[in-house]
Parts: sequence; structure tokens; C-alpha cells
Amino acid sequence: MSDLYLTNSLTRKKEKFIPIDPPNVGMYTCGPTVYFYPQIGNWRTFVFEDILRRVLVYNGYLVKHVMNITDVGHLTGDNIGDADLGEDRMEKEARKENKTAWEIADFYIKDFIESRDKFNILAPTYFVRATDHISEQISLIKRLEEKGLTYITKMGVYFDISKFPDYGKLGGQKLIDKRKASREELKEDKEKRNTFDFALWKFSKPDEKRHMEWDSPWGRGFPGWHLECSAMSMKYLGESFDIHTGGIDHVALHHTNEIAQSEGATGKPLAKYWLHGEFLKVDGGRMGKSLGNAYTLHDVVKKGFGPLSLRYLYLTAHYRDSLNFTWNSLASAQKALNNLREQVLAAKIQSSRTSLSSEKSKKVDDYSKRFSEAVTDDLNTPQALAVFWEAMKSNIPSEDKYDLALSFDEVLGLKLGEVSEVSKVPKVSKELKGLIEEREELRKEGKFKEADEIRKNIEKKGLKVEDTSEGPKIKSQGP
Ligand code: AMP
Ligand code: ZN
Repeated sequence: MSDLYLTNSLTRKKEKFIPIDPPNVGMYTCGPTVYFYPQIGNWRTFVFEDILRRVLVYNGYLVKHVMNITDVGHLTGDNIGDADLGEDRMEKEARKENKTAWEIADFYIKDFIESRDKFNILAPTYFVRATDHISEQISLIKRLEEKGLTYITKMGVYFDISKFPDYGKLGGQKLIDKRKASREELKEDKEKRNTFDFALWKFSKPDEKRHMEWDSPWGRGFPGWHLECSAMSMKYLGESFDIHTGGIDHVALHHTNEIAQSEGATGKPLAKYWLHGEFLKVDGGRMGKSLGNAYTLHDVVKKGFGPLSLRYLYLTAHYRDSLNFTWNSLASAQKALNNLREQVLAAKIQSSRTSLSSEKSKKVDDYSKRFSEAVTDDLNTPQALAVFWEAMKSNIPSEDKYDLALSFDEVLGLKLGEVSEVSKVPKVSKELKGLIEEREELRKEGKFKEADEIRKNIEKKGLKVEDTSEGPKIKSQGP
């Protein structure tokens, strides 16, 4: 197995991965805020983290993976760089949907788990809710209080960043300056001592009845958003562990504050390696609910695309590069994945164990080695896919192709071991059904040019229409 190299945000360098207690690896991933369906950018990050976990396992490590569920305390203000501003996302959605925040959380957690399975993302060893760890969070605030790192205002208990000299080390001075420039004036709580001090505990407003609130030594309220990750990582992985991950937006604020809380309390490094995934953009720009382009997995499926096609699309870019989502790029990914399935299926069907010539045996070893080098070189999935394709198109025996495909798929997670004739027939969405019917109507009316336009639209989705004696049939586009 090749040595594993990962880019550590803490040092801003690609480093050889050396776990604290090999072969064990502790890995903490910031999970979903369950006030709505994740958008496809969130899923890009969750898939990158899944690849990391699979590469660790591929390299022989025993991974304990913790993912949190943010079901309280994540305020809307983090969009403008201040997680203490604005409304609690859970309570806001509860009002909108006329439910309790607890019902909202349960609904979206269930949806997250179902969608996660559709993406073939491995379930974490511990998938834990912030609201199940209130006492751990209160204990952590007490620890910070004993060390003189907190103060209390009328609005909450704050972490005093002036008492933690390492504040901002994750993103570096540049990021701190950028944050300063963008939001010096945003200070909702006038008693806050430093702009970047952040809430560990927020008091419920006297005139407000929250769905989620708890008693604490300082008053009734709820934990600040960052606190849960410090408390839960400590509980399940110990005070220092190997890897902490998230999306790139977490560097400046959430992870910077997690480090302050955890290291402030323990005096030990929180995590040895910090990995951050770049953003998914849509049509070259920012994705936002208000822009109407924050697509969810459900939007993608409604348009006739499979979750694994989206997973394939994510893998075509390096996790540290931003990736631009367009419906056309997803159609190409669907087509490529279908072609790969055909290749793997052909190899499976044609497999018959013949002895390998020494030249072919060397080739098989070479593909294995190059694939392993790619994924262990900071998770270079585009390179790994290129090696995969090369192997599938080579002249090595089908049996070895199939074995290689299954072994590569342990890392890529495209469910290639499940290909069969049946899985080649794609599911037909409502939209697609509409298109097929429309095309049939046009053909009956002799409008072949218009019908052909619709056929082209269907093909853009990586599918093809075959007109049979029983009517039109939809198939995946084969090689
Ligand atoms: P949230 O549910 O908002 O806490 O986000 C879940 C994960 O998605 C976090 O790791 C975020 O950093 C990440 N994330 C948020 N927006 C994007 C995006 N556009 N592209 C990729 N990752 C994102
Ligand atoms: Zn977190």
C-alpha cells in the first residue's frame, strides 16, 4: 500500500499521514444542520469525506468515524460570518412548517440517512445529535469558565478570544484580517468584548418560548453552534484525535472556534490533520436558496438522474478544487457512469479464469499500484478514475478487470459490484415519461423534427430511446 498524503489546512501543506495510535484512526466530520434537505454542495462535502474514510480503510486503518447532527443553535447569521446573529434555523423552519423544532429535526434526519444510503456514503460509527449532548456541552463551558476564558452578558456566555493567543491559527492572519474587514460593524450584543468573541451558551429571550431550551448554571437557553462539535468529538474520540473535516467555509469561523474551545479547555491540539473540501458552484456562481439554484438530491432525482451519477460527477474533480455544477455536466457524468457499468458488466460476464501471461500480470499490478498512488496522493479521484478507465479498456483478462473494478470501487463507492443487466435499465422519472409521451405524440402527427429535438434532450441525460414494436423503450447509453 502506498503512503498516504493529505493536505493539512493547519500547516497549509501536503503531509504524510501518521496517525496518533496506528492502526486506529479517529475522524470527526461536521454533519448536517437538519432544518431542511441538504443541497448538492453539502453532499459534495459528505462524499469527499466518505472517500477519505474509504481510502483510510483501503490503507489498512481502523477508522472510528464520528459525525454530528446539528439540531439546535445554528443561527442564520453565519451566512454573513457571525453565527451569533439572527434566528435559530430549526425554530425558524418549525414556524414556517407549523411543526415543532423536534419534528423538523426528526424529519430531516430520516431524510438525510435515506439520502446518504442512496449516495452509498458509509454510515459513521457514531452519528450523534447536539440535543442529546447538552450536559457534555454545559460541562465544557464550566471547564472554560474555570480557566478564565469566558464572560457573561445579558445575552449569553461568551468565549473571550483575547485570552486564547492561538485564535485564528487554522486560517491564518490573512483570514482573520478578511473577517475583520467584512464585519467589524456586526455586533448584535453591545456587551461583547471583542468582535470575534462567540457564544458558548445563548439565553432564551424573556418574551420568547423556544421549542428547544434547557436550564444551565447561567440561565435557561441553548448552546452556541460551535460547542457541540468540541463536546462530542471529545466524548467519542478523546481530547486529541487524528482528522477533522468539513467544507472550506468552516475554516474561518466554525473550526476556528472549535479549536479555541477544545484547545482552550484541554491545552492539547484538537486534531492533527484538518481537511477541507472546496465548494460546489452552480452555473459558475454561488448556490443559494434565494437564487433558486440550491438543488437538493430530490431535485436531481426528479430530473431523471441517479444519486450515484452525482457521486461520479463529484469524483471527477479534486476535493480541493471548486467544481461547477451544470445539468449538462451531470448528464455527462451519468453517461460516463453508465458506460463504466457496461464495461464492468461485460468483464463480469466474460470472466473465465485463464492463467495470466507475465506481461498481463505486470499490467494488472501496475493498474493497482497507480490507482493506489492516485487515491493516496491527497485523494486524487480524477486521476484514480483515469486509471480505472485505462484498466477497463486494456487487454488484460476480463476476470482481472472485474477484480480490479471491485477493488477500486471499495474506494470510489459507485456500487459497481451490483451491476447486472437489470441495473442497466434506468428508472424513468415523471419528467422523462412526459418527454417520451410528447415525442410519441409528435411522431404520430408526423412532426419528426420536433420529435427528434426531444430525443436529443433525452440523450443529454445519458439515456437513449429505442423504438420497438411494443413502443418506445428507454435504455442507458452503452459504450
Ligand atoms: P451545513 O449543513 O450547512 O452545516 O453544511 C454541511 C457541510 O456542507 C459542511 O461541511 C459545509 O462546510 C459544507 N458546505 C456548505 N455549502 C457547500 C457548498 N456549496 N459546496 C460544498 N460544501 C458545502
Ligand atoms: Zn462542527
